[in-house]
Amino acid sequence: MEFSQYNVNALMYITPRPDLVFTEGSGMWLTDHNGKRYLDYLQGWAVNCLGHSPQCIQDALVAQSKKLINPSPAFYNAPAIELASLLTANSCFDRVFFTNSGAEANEGAIKLARKWGQLHKTGAFEIITFDHSFHGRTLATMSASGKPGWDTIFAPQVTGFPKAHLNDIASVENLISDKTVAVMLEPVQGEGGVLPASREFMQALRALTKKHNILLIVDEVQTGMGRTGELFAYQLSGIEPDIMTLGKGIGGGVPLAALLCREEIACFVPGDQGGTYNGNPLITAVGIAVIKELLADGFLASVQEKSDYLSKALNQLSEKHGLAGERGEGLLRALKLGSDIGGKLVEAGRNMEPVGVLLNSPRPDLLRFMPALNVSAAEIDQMIAMLDELLTQIKK
Ligand SMILES: *Cc1c(COP(=O)(O)O)cnc(C)c1O
Repeated sequence: MEFSQYNVNALMYITPRPDLVFTEGSGMWLTDHNGKRYLDYLQGWAVNCLGHSPQCIQDALVAQSKKLINPSPAFYNAPAIELASLLTANSCFDRVFFTNSGAEANEGAIKLARKWGQLHKTGAFEIITFDHSFHGRTLATMSASGKPGWDTIFAPQVTGFPKAHLNDIASVENLISDKTVAVMLEPVQGEGGVLPASREFMQALRALTKKHNILLIVDEVQTGMGRTGELFAYQLSGIEPDIMTLGKGIGGGVPLAALLCREEIACFVPGDQGGTYNGNPLITAVGIAVIKELLADGFLASVQEKSDYLSKALNQLSEKHGLAGERGEGLLRALKLGSDIGGKLVEAGRNMEPVGVLLNSPRPDLLRFMPALNVSAAEIDQMIAMLDELLTQIKK
């Protein structure tokens, strides 16, 4: 079918999109309406942790859809219980509430912290968040986010989210008052440009929040589920947060996210939290299939190996083309371009023939890489060779 035959204007306009309709995906590859193939380093925005349409997700969806799709959130179902048990057994958390998106999980974290503040901190409600952070697109999570301009687009904001600077503990301490109930951050700022919080900063934050009896919330929507080479990124710094949110990779491509907390924080009472689709068995069955793959012997070690391989290759590319190096954790990495050529590279990569490469530029001077966690060394080599060619073209 020709692109012009698709009635794309039936969709609400929210972002410029290329004149392509994707029709199939398998592993690291996507196919468009013309049959052209693309090596995909976006993977649905770090969502497809096992690549496009992996067998285990197909199987889980088919098997569960034949058994039970949704009994209502007012009843227990077996997949939700099993997935919650797997998450608590493999983290420092004791309780899980499933949601349908990362923003909804973060909304839940904000509500849980405010509730805890009402019960234990005489109504303290402020949550310190960070410049350039990203927590979602609901009103409260937009207010929590530190994206420039987001404070005015849908004014008035939800109040109570003072902003500190990442990796600057004094900037956090300066904002703490008797109104403060929590500090919330991404262990690696993803949308902000792959900026890791240092191990020392995470440890200092944990000590500071303990000292002031306030909660530490980690938004691991992008960094969780093996992305950094650990199951959860907080494990990189050896600390234990009070609340964690998960999204993206937890569903391997289907809409699943989660809010987790330790037992002593779990203070919701009936009426405080809920949702029609939350924890439905069709989707939590997929979550079980995904986490079992991540926990299989050697899987996380292979993520670390792939991460070292990609990091080295990006550094070599940077040296060859006089760029500004690379950074990241695990398979969430960024190449620092040293000039604002990100947009050009993304477009030229997509237009390459006979196969394209899909890249992401969260900032004009940066490319972000979020491949499937089971990406092969050959698929890394192929992307690096394509990027090498693109950089050579663009520099001419
Ligand atoms: C993507 C993302 C979100 C929002 O998740 P949605 O599922 O898009 O609502 C929140 N926090 C972080 C760190 C993210 O990367």
